[in-house]
Amino acid sequence: KSGFISIIGRPNVGKSTFLNRVIGQKIAIMSDKPQTTRNKVQGVYTTDEAQMIFIDTPGIHKPKHKLGDFMVKIAQNTLKEVDVILFMINVEEGLGKGDHYIIEKLKGVKTPVFLILNKIDQVHPDELLPIIQKYNELYPFAATVPISALEGNNVDQLLGLLKDRL
Ligand code: GDP
Ligand code: MG
Repeated sequence: KSGFISIIGRPNVGKSTFLNRVIGQKIAIMSDKPQTTRNKVQGVYTTDEAQMIFIDTPGIHKPKHKLGDFMVKIAQNTLKEVDVILFMINVEEGLGKGDHYIIEKLKGVKTPVFLILNKIDQVHPDELLPIIQKYNELYPFAATVPISALEGNNVDQLLGLLKDRL
């Protein structure tokens, strides 16, 4: 099993921290799936059962100029080509304009999207449910997974769910 996974979300939600935790060592890409130039490989996670290729999708932020519109289109096309999208949010922050913008862009994409609530080490567990409900009212997420990228809570469970989608 192998597949491409894109991690999107506002700055500082913990995307790089998550990748650093998952990608232990550098391993050559063995997938036979086609890769386009707009997919920049950030890391590959390999087990006996699965290979997950995490790719960067820059430009899925509100554009400040015309060229920005073009970049957003490219980003959306990239999202159509991956197997799973991880939409990461920071549970410490409220639902913001940046999230609304990304969710609007996701509506044109059929790829399954997992809602990843990161930084759960920073909040009481009771605070999670209202956040989960609020986001799931806006978009039909294929899964919702609370994690701490920093401390590692639930990251293995997330990798298991991802594997099942490849
Ligand atoms: P990115 O901009 O989405 O790539 O975010 P980064 O991975 O650079 O993380 C931004 C900040 O959030 C850094 O200071 C991280 O250490 C911190 N951070 C990331 N994940 C967690 C987490 O699960 N818990 C806590 N408490 N901090 C985190
Ligand atoms: Mg980063």
